[in-house]
Formats: sequence, structure tokens, C-alpha cells
Amino acid sequence: MTPKSSTKPKTFDDLGLSEPILRALWDCGYREPTPIQLAAIPLVSAHFDVLATAQTGTGKTAAFMLPVIDDIATRPCYAGDTPLALVLAPTRELALQIDQNVQAYGKHVGIRTAVLLGGVNSGPQIDRLRKGVDVVIATPGRLIDLMKQGAVSLEDVEFLILDEADRMLDLGFVHDVRWIADHVPKPRQTLLFSATVSAGVKSLASTMQVNARVVSVAPPAAVAENIEQQVMFVAREHKMDLLVDLLREDKDNRTLVFTATKVAAMMVARQLELRGLRVGAIHSNKSQSQRQSALDAFVQRKVDVLVATDIVARGIDVEDITHVINFELPELAENYVHRIGRTARAGRAGVAIALCGIEDVPQLRGIERLLKEPLTVRDDHRWHSTDVMACLAASERAARHRAKAGTMRGSGSKWAR
Ligand code: AMP
Repeated sequence: MTPKSSTKPKTFDDLGLSEPILRALWDCGYREPTPIQLAAIPLVSAHFDVLATAQTGTGKTAAFMLPVIDDIATRPCYAGDTPLALVLAPTRELALQIDQNVQAYGKHVGIRTAVLLGGVNSGPQIDRLRKGVDVVIATPGRLIDLMKQGAVSLEDVEFLILDEADRMLDLGFVHDVRWIADHVPKPRQTLLFSATVSAGVKSLASTMQVNARVVSVAPPAAVAENIEQQVMFVAREHKMDLLVDLLREDKDNRTLVFTATKVAAMMVARQLELRGLRVGAIHSNKSQSQRQSALDAFVQRKVDVLVATDIVARGIDVEDITHVINFELPELAENYVHRIGRTARAGRAGVAIALCGIEDVPQLRGIERLLKEPLTVRDDHRWHSTDVMACLAASERAARHRAKAGTMRGSGSKWAR
């Protein structure tokens, strides 16, 4: 399917989507397409392979799923039993999120989905597959298990979609993904979405795609403009006190707290509980049902705060998160961008606060280098640490010194040639 007019599409109507899909989008409250949707939907509809740089929060799920659902639903006889589309996602949360979206977008055309996730009993997933499905959404490990058991067949898959490809690589799924892709027949349409397009993602794309169109709507690591980014300098031993002060500041705030490790997430959650807060926690030690019930409790405001690790950051799509607090800064600066992207969803405003101790100074510098600007320093709190500030200043001075020495060495060798 191609867009209805040769002028640039601006509305969902212009994108040539069928009426039941347009109605579903209206029901979802989507009034106009986001930039990634405007860029990608015509290409996907025209059956190109697409490599898209887009982050969670930009509307990328609809960008790849709307034309696929539309294509499947407008076939004269589409009620076969084996899937026509396969979506691979790196985490269980993201897979569930995609499934919810597909069901919402396809609700007037009766699209049938199965979500195949590890960490839960596979029985119901196998039953679901037996009933016949159009779209399978899976994490790689469970999909491979079910393929090996002969419980799922990919022989009719025409659309292979890889979401958050960079995260797949970070989590070590590259061999699994290649193995699965080798079992999806060709010709097929392969869509690859990634927050950042690293050399690894490019190499994966080059083996999976043919003549792919490249779409990029935001530069890698772009941060939504409506997020106010702040940093508070605090000694490690006072971080918990500061966190509690922040959480008690305004009861209406909806706060997500990130830690670097699951051990830290458990510790922070426990400490907050001991101080009388209602806390949910999601990290890789929690089972799928525990993670889901923690998310549900957060959505329903049964807990005041949710503590999470990076591994689950991208799957959290709760619209009205007002604050993201980084209790510890992430090793990878890009993960900071993913974390804070959980707030300021769907055009709202949000606040991201980094609690920076001396141990976090290298990470803070990495984040500021990536963003190409410093975070706003907030010293209006009783735990403000001038030691941490001094450490940051010293680290910046040392870096300037090294850069200057490097330039001088560089120019010296130039003249020596
Ligand atoms: P995603 O990047 O797919 O995770 O989407 C981020 C959020 O934006 C989700 O809550 C979507 O439901 C929402 N969304 C996606 N497309 C639109 C749109 N065109 N208008 C309004 N909200 C949207």
C-alpha cells in the first residue's frame, strides 16, 4: 500500500491506513502521527526493509505495527493459523507493551496475538498458538525453546521485526536473533528499530535486511525538551535521606527511581519501606508476574514509588511519571537517556534528578559529554556536598589538562614529520 497522495503525509488518513485502524487510533486518543510514524509508515507500507533510529516514547511501536496490522487485516482470507508477523523484543516488559499496543490498534479487525516470554509457564502460550495467531511477539530465549519443541512454526512469517536492536545486542542476544532470523523464510520484510545505531546494529542489519531504507527522527541520545534535568551533589551515605526528602516533597508526584544493580534496587526498596513509603520494585530477580503486579500497582497508585534497574527501563510505559530519580548513575551514558525518557511521555513535562556522589562523577561527566551540556545543579537541599562538587571540578580540570597536553603532543608530532 502507498500513501494516498504524493504530497508529504501529515495525518493518519494521509498514510493510507484502513478505516478500522483509523478508528482504533482515534479510540487510543492518537490525533496525529508522530515524526517516526510519518517517516516510517509509508516505507513499511511500500514493503521496504526499514532500519529506524527511534527511541521508546517516540511512537515507534505504532510506526512499525500499524502498516503490518493493516496489511494482514486487509487480506481477503487472512485467518490462517500460523503467524504472519514476528516481533522480537529484548525484555518481557517491552514484549507485553507491544502486545497491548497491537491489540489496541487491531481491535476492530480482530488481530490475534501470542506473547511468548520466558520466566512463566509455557503451557498457556502453547495453547494460544494452537488456537491460531497472526502476530507473535516474543523474547528470543522462549521463542527458540518453543521452536525446538515444534510448538511454533515461522514458515508463513512475512514480517520480521526487531525492536530495540541495540538492547538485544547489549543483553547478548545476537546469536539467538541471528538463529531465529535464519528460520524466517525469505523473501520477507525485515524492520529493525533501535535507539542507537552502533556498528553492531549495522552489522546485524546488513545480514538480515535487503536494500533497507534508513529512517532517523531524532539524533541518538536526544532528550525530550520538556524534561528538566537536574543534578544534586550528595555523599553516598546521605543519598537515602535525600531520596526520602524528595519523595516526601509532593505526594502527587509519580516517581521512578533507578539504581545501577538489582542488589541496590532491593536495598533501596527495603530502606524506603522501612521509612514508611509504599514501594514497588522491578528488576531481573523478580518473576514476570511479580514485575507485572509491581507495574500495575504503580499505575493504580497503590505504591508511592517504583524502584527499577536499567534492564527493565525501556519497557516501562506509564504516561504520567512526573519524576525520574537516578539514585546511582548508569555506567552507560545512553542508559541515562533511556531512564529519563520514562518521564515526559506523550507531550507532558517531567523532571529528572541525578543523585551524584563522588563515585558517580565519572558517569556524570560521560552523561554531560553525551548531552553536550551540563545538568542544572540543585543545591537547595540539606545534604548538598561541596566535596562532590570539588571532585567534579578537579576531574574536569584534569580532563582539560589531558586534552591540552594531547593537543600539544599531537602538534609536536606534526611538526616533527
Ligand atoms: P512507543 O514509542 O511506541 O513506546 O510510544 C510511546 C507512547 O506514545 C505510548 O504511550 C503510545 O501509546 C503513545 N503514542 C504513540 N503514537 C502516538 C500518537 N500518534 N499520538 C499520541 N500518542 C501516541
